[in-house]
Formats: sequence, C-alpha cells, structure tokens
Amino acid sequence: MKKFITENSNKMKIVLLGAPGAGKGTYASRLKDQYGIPHISTGDLLREAIKNNTPAGIQAKKFMDRGEFVPDEIIIELLKERLKQSDAQAGMLLDGFPRTIEQAKILDEIIGIRAVLKFDIKQDVVLRRLGGRLICKGCGEIFNKHKLPPKKEGICDICKNELHQREDDTEETIIKRYKTYEDQINPLIEHYSNTNKLHTLDSNTDLSDLKCTVLEDCKKILDNIKSNI
Ligand code: AMP
Repeated sequence: MKKFITENSNKMKIVLLGAPGAGKGTYASRLKDQYGIPHISTGDLLREAIKNNTPAGIQAKKFMDRGEFVPDEIIIELLKERLKQSDAQAGMLLDGFPRTIEQAKILDEIIGIRAVLKFDIKQDVVLRRLGGRLICKGCGEIFNKHKLPPKKEGICDICKNELHQREDDTEETIIKRYKTYEDQINPLIEHYSNTNKLHTLDSNTDLSDLKCTVLEDCKKILDNIKSNI
C-alpha cells in the first residue's frame, strides 16, 4: 500500500469533470504541453476504436448511438491500454472518466489521482457553445463558429486539417447529455469532496472573454501540485 501511494504522489494525475461543452477539452489542450501530460478522453478513445472497427469499437457503437453509457469492461480495457503508453507515465488530464461511482472506485484502484477539476456550466451556455463547436479532424483543436472562429472557414489554424461538427452536438442530444451529466455528478462530488482533491471552477464565461480566469485558476492548481512532486 505504501509503495502505491509513493508511486502516485510523483505524478500529475488529474481528472476533469464537467458537462459536455464545459470546456474540458479546450482547457486540456491549453494545459497538456505546459505540464507535459496528455489529454486522455474516453469519448475520443471510443470514437477512435469505432473508426478503426476494433471489437471494442463495434460493441461500443451500439451504446453510443443510443446516447447510453458504454459498459465498464469495454471502457476500462481501452483506458488501461492507453495508460500504458509512454506519454502517460508522468500523469494525464483524464476527461470523460469516471462517470459513475463504480468507475471512480476503479480509478482509485488502478491509478489513484491527485486532483479533480470540476468545470461548472449552465445548460443555456452549453447549448450556445456546442451548437457552434467545430473540432479539428487532425489535431483535435476546438473552435466555435460564433465565439472562436478559425481564421479560414472550415480549416484548423494549427495543423490546417479540416474542421467538423460532432454528430452528437445536436440540440436534442445536447439536452439529453446535459441531463445525464447532472444525474451522474452528485455521487461523484460526494466521493471526491471527502478527499480534499476537488476544485470547482465557474466555466460559464468563454475562454475568449477577457474576464475569464479559468485557465489561470487551473494553472494555479496544477503548479501547486507540481511544486509538491
Ligand atoms: P464524450 O465524448 O465524453 O461526450 O463521450 C461520448 C460517449 O462515449 C458517451 O455518451 C458515452 O456513450 C461514451 N462514454 C465516454 N466515456 C464513458 C465512460 N466513462 N463510461 C461510459 N461511457 C462512456
């Protein structure tokens, strides 16, 4: 047990919680290079598995198409494989996992975590944000048609690949996903609030707004963790 705690205390293992559109992906892409840890999104792992037609992807697609959770055994296997890769050895920004109390307990067992960043957002802000969300097919950078447009329409500023809109970014699915998040978050808050690891950030202001301090607030939390490693 002692070995487990020591091993985990020198890594930046961070969980990002937040409704769809709360900015987890956007902030992760700003933080990952600075702290030298990858952004690992279970939704992205699943979409990649579906794209590659792997057995896990074929199974997962049935659930994702219905807007339901993918069974734990599929997602945990994908996550464990991803965590073995060399870039995840110093830590990670984990997005989309855990979503249930059972997953939180499994995560405590398989990696242990240092901090949970919870991005709070209201439903009407989510609808505005996700309705206009554009994602790069190449590097995953996130833009917004209205608030953060790319310099050239449909093209990523960074890697020049094509931008696309996610299939589940329709109004009906967004409302359903927001409701699912609200239902799942309370047990997770309870689980983490007993641990001193939970940090809540008000993510209703867009990153492009000068008043937005969310990125700075995240950096303060991560700097504090880094200085204790
Ligand atoms: P996301 O990209 O995080 O919005 O995830 C897209 C979809 O992938 C979700 O609606 C779920 O069907 C599935 N998914 C992602 N992460 C998990 C998870 N931790 N547990 C179960 N299903 C998940």
